[in-house]
Amino acid sequence: MTTQTKYVFVTGGVTSSLGKGIIAASLAKLLQAQGYRTTIQKLDPYINVDPGTLNPYEHGECYVTDDGAETDLDLGHYERFLNVPTSQANNVTTGRIYQSVIEKERRGEFLGKTVQVIPHITDEIKERIQILGNSGDYDIVITEIGGTVGDIESLPYVEAVRQLKWDLGEHNAIVVHLTLIPYLSAAGELKTKPTQHSVKTLMESGVQADVLVCRTEHVLNDNIRIKIARFCNVHEDAVIQSIDASTIYDVPNLMLKEGLDTVVLNKLQLESNTPDLTSWNVFLQRHKNPKHTVHIGLIGKYVELQDSYKSILESFIHAGAANEVNVEVEPIHSEHIDKNAIEKLSHLHGVLVAPGFGERGIEGKINAVQYVREHKIPFLGICLGMQMAVIEFSRNVLGLKEANSTEMNPETSQPVIDLMEDQKTITRKGGTMRLGSWECELIDDSIVSKVYNSKSIKERHRHRYEYNNAYKQKIETAGMKSTGFNPGTGLVEIVEIPSHPWFVGVQYHPEYKSTVSNPHPLFVAFVKAALEYKKKNTSV
Ligand code: GLN
Repeated sequence: MTTQTKYVFVTGGVTSSLGKGIIAASLAKLLQAQGYRTTIQKLDPYINVDPGTLNPYEHGECYVTDDGAETDLDLGHYERFLNVPTSQANNVTTGRIYQSVIEKERRGEFLGKTVQVIPHITDEIKERIQILGNSGDYDIVITEIGGTVGDIESLPYVEAVRQLKWDLGEHNAIVVHLTLIPYLSAAGELKTKPTQHSVKTLMESGVQADVLVCRTEHVLNDNIRIKIARFCNVHEDAVIQSIDASTIYDVPNLMLKEGLDTVVLNKLQLESNTPDLTSWNVFLQRHKNPKHTVHIGLIGKYVELQDSYKSILESFIHAGAANEVNVEVEPIHSEHIDKNAIEKLSHLHGVLVAPGFGERGIEGKINAVQYVREHKIPFLGICLGMQMAVIEFSRNVLGLKEANSTEMNPETSQPVIDLMEDQKTITRKGGTMRLGSWECELIDDSIVSKVYNSKSIKERHRHRYEYNNAYKQKIETAGMKSTGFNPGTGLVEIVEIPSHPWFVGVQYHPEYKSTVSNPHPLFVAFVKAALEYKKKNTSV
């Protein structure tokens, strides 16, 4: 549609947690729905090379792309909104920028120059921003700058944006600045001063915001909009209200109503039409008008934090809409499930045992699996959840009392979950797990072959430990079947218990691939199984 790729930079001011990722994803959705090939990129100003080594308490879920990049959870929103896969190029951290500049320096690529933040770090940032644009795959690249303007860490990014705006020319790069308009209840007023200051902070770095997206809990009246426009050097139609929404999936429609897509396209001198949001709105309609409710337990150790299991929670929203079911997810801390699991789990219509690392809470996960297996409650185990299902089955059905993962007990005499040979010599933690998309062949007459309606699938992985094939025959004979294999290595990727109505454990992470327009079939089938269980077990 266009020849020159256009760039939209999204910056944030006043405070963190304003929802830049959702605004960027919503804008991208509107531009995509107008026919523009759009992608989003996130630049994170921390020193970790990627978020793979970060504890979910620090930074929420680590999202994994097809090409095996461990990335910021905002990339999950981008994929869920756009239904277009992201890659390593879509997430860059300060750590990665410095790592690459230092490697170039060691190779002697700077020809004796003093290596400095400007120009070397800023050049590297500019190059990373333009990788997606130069691919020829996109008309518009939206680049979200993490952090808040004015932070020391953000300075090189803001400087790179200033230079790029200049290099690319007026109508090829714009800045959308997200800010907060607080309401002071004592004064009964919305206050614009923090926004004025944050726009001024940007200007001190030579960057003028073109569009202001104002987060607010109250409607912005015309006077406020005029005031913001006047003090911040933007047009009135470029003051966009972003009011709190009951679901993030409402935000594209709210932004459409405010004309965010039109103002952005006008500034980029691109044609603006009405976006086609038909299928999006069908999803919203189903999401908001469920016919039934099911209660699903989410067993994990980070359950107090919404962001830690972001993709799983969103997958339930997609799968719920597909089934016209309201999925009430009940987070249950795995450390609080003792042998007497019944009180915590008996009212549930399905149980998902979550991914995770380390020993804490695993006995609770094993107790939960035992309870749902014996009581025939639908079960989905993801990654560590699948490994716990194999351990539970080995201990309680096969009688292998010592069965464990060598992650939890390296000395166990019955390592039903163990490291592959190639993992045993690894000492560096970052980026060395089995990561990214791997093929998996499905066995006929299994739940998964029906669910996927295919013989071969590709799913994303993020783990070090594996089902130990030395125990496969014993486990299978006792009634837990392996129904998915990696064709290259023979590794077991899926287990099922055919004598149970719906018991599936997967070594991979289906939640990373669920999107609004493509709800993940495994989650859709799990929610359906939960609904069937509820109908069967609730007396009418
Ligand atoms: N800790 C397990 C492993 O490394 C599972 C990882 C996960 O659940 N993502 O194999």
